Amino acid sequence: MNRMHEKIVFFERAFLFSVSLFVLLLVQTSCSGESSSTAKQWKVYAIKYGETARFNRSTLVLGAQKGETSPMAWCAWLLRGADRQILIDTGFADRKLAKKWRIAGFRTVPEALKTIGLSAEDITDVVITHMHWDHVGNVGPYKQATVWIQRREFEWARTIVSKERPTRWGIRLKDLAVLGQVERYGRLKLVGRDAQVAQGVFFRDGGAHTKAIQWVEVHTNGPSGTVALASDNAYLWENISRPVSTGSTTDPNLDIEALGRIRSEVSRPELAIPGHDPETFKRFPVVASGIVEIR
Ligand SMILES: [Zn+2]
Repeated sequence: MNRMHEKIVFFERAFLFSVSLFVLLLVQTSCSGESSSTAKQWKVYAIKYGETARFNRSTLVLGAQKGETSPMAWCAWLLRGADRQILIDTGFADRKLAKKWRIAGFRTVPEALKTIGLSAEDITDVVITHMHWDHVGNVGPYKQATVWIQRREFEWARTIVSKERPTRWGIRLKDLAVLGQVERYGRLKLVGRDAQVAQGVFFRDGGAHTKAIQWVEVHTNGPSGTVALASDNAYLWENISRPVSTGSTTDPNLDIEALGRIRSEVSRPELAIPGHDPETFKRFPVVASGIVEIR
């Protein structure tokens, strides 16, 4: 190769390199532009999949009198964005269990989603706040979704149940089996104490209701600002506003600390949403039966 030819090859390569760099930058800029617009478009919904009229209040609120009861809602939550539909917790599907817990108006979460025009296949992400059966009991229908859970919670749950003892402390071996399948398909996302699920959606470390329960922080547009889906870090509004831990925790102080973090993140106190309070469905605009938009 003569000198001139070498020079030409050099300039050609330099030219190709700068073109590909330019294309790369262009792609990155347009992607981040898309994500930031997604961040502004999150709409947050609470979905009720049943209600128990009289639930043992000492489970819901630490220190409540034995024998007192409160109504209790069974819930999941939905975040709708431009290109992601994120479901927070799945409820369960076993109607016998619904009977056992005296749940009126029971329906599965996919049945509830249908009333707002969504099918399980539309869900892109399922975020599991903790391994209790009423939160992780129906992951199966979401065949397209990435399933998010904190690694410590998942690994802890596997030490709790076994073939000999398939149900213990609200954890079920069969729910772990479904997550095992999801893992084999490469759709299980095991995360640390704090994770970003999407632009403006954060999966945060919670208290001591289970080993590593999480809650979800969502940045929305307009007056809604930041919403916190507390899940069972709080059962009722009362847990958050007083604050007082639930009666279902291994360390009330850790729950109070988590509730403090939750309260400090939200734009208005009523945007910290507890896991099981029927009042949620009276406080916000109804979009379908048992479904409200949190704003
Ligand atoms: Zn729970």
